[in-house]
Parts: sequence; structure tokens; C-alpha cells
Amino acid sequence: MDHHAPEHHATAFAVTRNPAPASDAERARRMDSQPFGTVFSDHLAKATWTADRGWHDRRIEPFGDLVLHPGATVLHYGQQVFEGLKAYRWADGSIHLFRPEANAARFNASAVRMALPPLPEEDFLGSIEELLGVDAAWVPDVEETSLYLRPMLIGTEPCLGVRPSATVGYVLLASPVGAYFPNGVKPVSIWVAQGFHRAGAGGTGQAKTAGNYAASMLPQQQAQDHGCDQVLFLDASRDMYVEELGGMNVFAVRRDGTIWTPRVTGTILEGVTRDSVIELLRGDGRDVIERDISIDELRDGIASGAVQEVFACGTAAVVTPIARLVAPSYDLVVGDGGPGTVTMALRQRLTDIQYGHAEDTHGWMRRVV
Ligand SMILES: *Cc1c(COP(=O)(O)O)cnc(C)c1O
Repeated sequence: MDHHAPEHHATAFAVTRNPAPASDAERARRMDSQPFGTVFSDHLAKATWTADRGWHDRRIEPFGDLVLHPGATVLHYGQQVFEGLKAYRWADGSIHLFRPEANAARFNASAVRMALPPLPEEDFLGSIEELLGVDAAWVPDVEETSLYLRPMLIGTEPCLGVRPSATVGYVLLASPVGAYFPNGVKPVSIWVAQGFHRAGAGGTGQAKTAGNYAASMLPQQQAQDHGCDQVLFLDASRDMYVEELGGMNVFAVRRDGTIWTPRVTGTILEGVTRDSVIELLRGDGRDVIERDISIDELRDGIASGAVQEVFACGTAAVVTPIARLVAPSYDLVVGDGGPGTVTMALRQRLTDIQYGHAEDTHGWMRRVV
């Protein structure tokens, strides 16, 4: 099967097929309920950047280990950025992406912050189309499942001096993922980080870069030690305002009908899901307010019932209800502890668009296969 990407944003990637792709049976076995991000498709998309030639050597290769010099800057100083998006299979077998241009733009904004060379949008989209062309069978067809796509840029130059790498690799991995909640949506609990912050003013909070996640693992462990699923970070300067979870943005649904979410100040990661949720809610005539939300305001609102629902959102888990807010001095249940109606309706709205069950009136979906 030869794949031809639509002409409007295709960049050709030279395809070297995997001589030993997984058999249908092996692929089916590996795609069946594995932990998130542990199974990979048969191929990788790659491209190389050098200071003198710019981006070149765009290619699809059999999946395999990377060869990196032990002095590569990514290994020492974390010069890296990444993205996360999904390919969804519709009932007619076609494969679609959700707002990939937004991921391409954020990829490049992250790259600029980390002194990495931006990747042209047509290469970002072209690499995804070409990889899906050869690995289409890895896009699962069960509702709520998808093929998770992980593009990244890494500094590959062997140099222990602290300066931007003169050689950079682009690598795109694809990993089939099952339903985030295989047994139905279950609300999560969140632990308010104590003494740890995700990002400070002028730091890298707005970039999707490896170091942010390395720094979030210890507070995430502490959340788990306190019986919680996720950690909620507060702002670094006053340790008072709600920012986000380790990998998801947050919203609060209020009894007065308004919906609040932390305003973007340069320290939170601006989610594509966050933006889409705001657009859907506003399209319904809802009053979405982007503002500073203090943790006291959130806590008191949950305690008094002024805040009726809290939810998190991101590509991996879509829209996820939050049922408990926990800190050393309190442990509060949101609403009745079950998934809220606004939250669940929103989750359904978004997944209906992503899986082609509802009309895409926002022009968010891109067909690739
Ligand atoms: C990726 C990410 C999000 C969610 O972004 P989406 O584009 O909606 O997937 C939120 N916060 C952090 C820290 C993230 O890394």
C-alpha cells in the first residue's frame, strides 16, 4: 500500500519499511490493555537538523533504538521538547487528528524557549501523515482508544559545554493506547503540592520540555503517598494561586453558572484541550472566566458548595472529574464525590467530535488516512 499524504501540507519522508513488522496476531496481542506508553508501532519518523544545512534527511525507519553519543546535550542538560496528540479511528475506518496545527505551533514555541530549531509545520504534519501511512494498522478501532503520537526534538551534539546543540534530531514515536478509564470514568483525587512548584516566572513552565516532568515526579510521588492520584501545583511566587496538575489543566464549575480556570501567565502549559473546552463552553453561552484562583478560594468554594465540580483536561485523559482536594490540613469532597454533569457532558461532547460521532462545527479534525 503506497500512502499519499494530502498535498496541502505534505513533506516527503523517505520510507524504509520494517522488514519484520509485527504480525496481525502479535500486534493485536501487544495492543491489548498494556500500561500507557509501553507499546510502540513498527516505525519511527525522523529528521536531522544541523546548523549549516538546516532540516534535512526526513525519513521513516523501522522502529529501533537511537544511537546517541554519550556526550549528547540532551543527556546532560535536557535540551529537549516534545508534544502529545492522538490519531483516532472513526467507524468507517478513516483516521483523524485533533487540531494538530495547534500542537505544531506549541512544539515550535517550546523549541524557541529551549534554543532548539523550530520544525516547519509541514514537516510536523507530514511526518505524522507518513508514519500513519505505514503504521495505520496500529490505530486501534475500539471506542476511547487511539494511537498516541509523541514528537520530540533532542540536542544530539557531543558537547559538555553549556550551549545550544549544533545538531538536533526530530523523532516521532507512535504508541497505541487503550481507554484511560477502561471501567468507566472514575473521579480522581488531587494533592496540593507542599513546598514544590512546577514553574516560576521566566522559567520553562510554558514549554513542553523534559525537565518540567523530571521535577514533577517527586511531588507526584508524595501525592501518591497521601493516597491521591495527581498533584496540584500552586504558583511559585506566592504559593497561593492554582496553576495546574503535572500534565493537565484545571477548571472549576460554580453554582452561579460561571466556570473558572487559571489565567495564562507564562507559568502554565496552555493545553489544546483547555482551549477547546473554553471554546465549547463559551459556544454554549457559558461564562468562562480566566482569572487567578487562590487555593483558599477553591477550598472554601468546595466546602460551601459554591464550587460544584472540578475537572482536569488534557490529551491523554480528555476531561477528568476531580472528586477530592487534599492537603495536610484538609480533605474535601467535591459535590457528591461523583462525576459532575457539566464535566461529563463536556467529556462526551469532545470525544464525540474526536471519534466522528458529532459534527465538527469548529473545524478541528484533520483526516490523514
Ligand atoms: C500537555 C500538558 C497539558 C495538556 O495539554 P493538551 O494540549 O491539552 O494535551 C497540560 N499541562 C501540562 C503540564 C502538559 O504537559
